[in-house]
Amino acid sequence: MAEKSYLDLKSEVWDTKKCSGCGACVAVCPADALSFAEGELVVSPKSNGYCKQATDSVPCGACYDVCPRIGDQPKDTLGAHIELLSAKAAFEIPHRQSGGAVTAILSNALDEGLIDAVVTVTEDPWTLKPTSVVITKSDVLIHEAGSRYSWWVPLLAALKDAAITRKYTKVAIVGVPCAVQAAARIRASENDLLRPYAKAIRLVVGLFCTETFDYAALVYGKLEKHYKLAPHEIKKLDVKGKLDILKQDGTHLSVPLADLEETIRPGCRICTDFSSLCADLSAGAVGSPAGSTTLIIRNDTGKGFVESAIRNHRLVTEKSVDVSAIEKLANSKIRKNSR
Ligand SMILES: Cc1cc2nc3c(=O)[nH]c(=O)nc-3n(C[C@H](O)[C@H](O)[C@H](O)COP(=O)(O)OP(=O)(O)OC[C@H]3O[C@@H](n4cnc5c(N)ncnc54)[C@H](O)[C@@H]3O)c2cc1C
Ligand code: SF4
Ligand code: SF4
Repeated sequence: MAEKSYLDLKSEVWDTKKCSGCGACVAVCPADALSFAEGELVVSPKSNGYCKQATDSVPCGACYDVCPRIGDQPKDTLGAHIELLSAKAAFEIPHRQSGGAVTAILSNALDEGLIDAVVTVTEDPWTLKPTSVVITKSDVLIHEAGSRYSWWVPLLAALKDAAITRKYTKVAIVGVPCAVQAAARIRASENDLLRPYAKAIRLVVGLFCTETFDYAALVYGKLEKHYKLAPHEIKKLDVKGKLDILKQDGTHLSVPLADLEETIRPGCRICTDFSSLCADLSAGAVGSPAGSTTLIIRNDTGKGFVESAIRNHRLVTEKSVDVSAIEKLANSKIRKNSR
């Protein structure tokens, strides 16, 4: 695919509003020519007009090769796996989203030297603005646990920082399914320009995902304007059939998802991957009791990281997962977004 350029990506993905906002193309452009603008509902990246391939006829195609929106969307629910578990961190993680299993596995991996960096998303506690980051210390990772639902930051832009700028060689990525699909394309690609990224990726942890909300559209356009709720008044967001907002004063506000339709990123509307089918290890809330994380262990890499955390008494697991609950949500996403 080396003859493709950002112009093909633009016509096939950006202009058709299929872009998920994963940021992979921005990260791997060797000319740093792609970027996201700031503002409400930014649908796709933009180019500064220079392109190795299109301007200078130098073989590249990196942005096109990594894009998860090229080709058909998957139609599977659970995907390939070797084990399903309900899991909990065996230590206190104050901001964990479900059972804290993702943080327990990754912090153990950092402490054991199995990985040297984690590419993930954090948020500013005052504004809730999400940022993609590289975390290298387990205490920082534990502090940053929890899910960022108003996400559109180019998560994988931080992969360039981790693998190329800071030269970490054992990187874990935590991402929603579109970012996980992009990471899988990087790993499988024969494009020489992507090889340094592929070599650096040691583990991909995928989160379950029905959709994400645009940060500015949700936090300012909706919550502040219509619900008179400033970002600093919000302690935690959770999506369980509705948006549940835990406020700093301990009270809850419940917002129907139908009221948030216009804040959902347009690219999410064609996405049919719920369970992060291309990850080494997937994690979500559904399928396990409240306070636990469902883990779908997909291959030996994922299994090795989970077993290490169990061995070191960082993670406790049970085999009781409600598979039908996961399949129900995954099928409903496929039906809704295949129309
Ligand atoms: C946008 C979004 C939608 C989700 N939708 C569902 C759903 O519909 N059903 C369901 O069962 N589960 C869903 N999840 C997953 C769920 O919220 C938890 O992330 C999962 O259960 C793991 O919980 P945990 O306590 O083990 O994770 P924690 O230990 O709290 O760790 C979470 C890790 O994920 C990272 N992270 C948070 N947000 C993002 C993000 N946007 N991109 C990349 N990394 C991130 C954090 O930095 C942290 O490292 C969603 C998550 C996200 C981010
Ligand atoms: S889906 Fe990701 S890789 Fe594709 S155009 Fe959008 S940001 Fe770039
Ligand atoms: S629904 Fe989730 S995985 Fe799909 S494009 Fe949106 S953010 Fe990405």
